[in-house]
Amino acid sequence: MLVPLAPEYTPGVLWQDTATPHPVTPQPLPAKADVVIVGGGYCGLSAAGELAQRGRSVVVLDTHDLGWGASTRNGGMVLPDLKAGPASLTARYGELGLRLHAAVEAAFDHVEHVIAAGSIDCAYERTGQLYLSHGERAPARLDALATELASVGSAAHVVRGEALRAEVGSAAFSAGLVVERSGGLHPARFHAGLTRLAEAAGASLHPHTPATAVTRAATRWTVSTPRGVIDTGHVLLATNAYADSLVPTLRRRVLPMGSFIIATEPLAPEVAQAVLPTGRMCFNDRHLLWYWRLDDAGRMVFGGRKRLGSVGLEEARDYLYRSMLEVYPQLAGTNVERAWGGQVALTLDRLPHCGQEGGLWYATGCNGSGVALNTWMGHRMGAAIDGEGLPAFAELPPRAIPLHSLRRAWLPLVSTWFQLQDRRAT
Ligand SMILES: Cc1cc2nc3c(=O)[nH]c(=O)nc-3n(C[C@H](O)[C@H](O)[C@H](O)COP(=O)(O)OP(=O)(O)OC[C@H]3O[C@@H](n4cnc5c(N)ncnc54)[C@H](O)[C@@H]3O)c2cc1C
Repeated sequence: MLVPLAPEYTPGVLWQDTATPHPVTPQPLPAKADVVIVGGGYCGLSAAGELAQRGRSVVVLDTHDLGWGASTRNGGMVLPDLKAGPASLTARYGELGLRLHAAVEAAFDHVEHVIAAGSIDCAYERTGQLYLSHGERAPARLDALATELASVGSAAHVVRGEALRAEVGSAAFSAGLVVERSGGLHPARFHAGLTRLAEAAGASLHPHTPATAVTRAATRWTVSTPRGVIDTGHVLLATNAYADSLVPTLRRRVLPMGSFIIATEPLAPEVAQAVLPTGRMCFNDRHLLWYWRLDDAGRMVFGGRKRLGSVGLEEARDYLYRSMLEVYPQLAGTNVERAWGGQVALTLDRLPHCGQEGGLWYATGCNGSGVALNTWMGHRMGAAIDGEGLPAFAELPPRAIPLHSLRRAWLPLVSTWFQLQDRRAT
């Protein structure tokens, strides 16, 4: 099938093309700082803002433009989500499980607070989320998840039949779980707001400045860059899926995985209303999941991955268009305006990790849900560097991905297994 492309179609990130980045004031690289943060996404900037507000001198480095990584490429879904409900987390981790769930709820509240307190104009709306299931056995699983969430005070309910049709204009699903505490935002405008807040608090921001080496110098650190070296008391690595060879141990703990998104041209208001009457943030229950939403101009923004391992942008775009039509056949013929991809960081336990590694602070492993979590993680890591306790995720044992350097060889096998499971479940 030939995917219809809008006359203005370009491969590129819709959000980057519809936001004005905060103009960072160019300045010389400081020779000394209390803290150097590597990575200028949500996590790095949140940490920078927190530390600067606490009176610390902070330098943020990014190899590319600030926000070049996942923070301006994502779906903009603000989800209190850990891929497992509070009861499953408690079954796995005991009392720590409840604290992990509480952390993700706190992350959601934190993002809403930052947007309101920092007057960030990012089209944020508390839309709620809709977790959709294809299979016949789904309703029982969704009922159990709703009960789990209710047990910790999260409003969630299962919809089927007429109630399901009132949520989503699609016959592809057997049931859905509505969780009210979720929202949607414009990722790049949110990032621009965090950049503005970090700079206003006094952080020194340096795009196009890769950290090329970090070495111990007695009780301090030396961070090398092509523009000079910085002597610092602390280093925070906030590189998530884009970790390079700077600290190989951390790089081996996450599997960088491509995720792709297409955005259609704006839908006519009556079509937008028919496909997503309640404007929820949607995703389905497959291993190779689809996620979708409308943006503030009424475009259908539809994401997912065809398989694990490498996929070209055009192949991903065409796959996502076909997938979108499986959900919404009525969108056949709708033009695509943009297609892009980015990397998410998967961990072995599918949970984020943070703490200290050889004296270096780090936060990593968004597992595809980091708009709320990595923003909050940055804020909490900033507080931890200033002497407060670490987030509960620091108590999870860190584990390297087995055969990390051979992943191109084994990922296709895992991918085939996921595809088979997904087919069996529908
Ligand atoms: C396509 C896609 C869709 C997604 N959708 C959602 C969603 O809807 N909801 C959700 O919650 N999450 C989503 N996510 C995940 C979310 O975007 C990420 O979890 C989050 O943006 C991570 O932020 P971060 O600051 O930790 O990392 P990033 O924003 O990835 O920033 C890391 C930065 O580190 C820099 N860096 C790396 N090495 C160095 C070095 N040596 N020196 C200097 N800089 C360096 C990189 O250049 C990069 O800019 C999605 C991700 C993708 C890719």
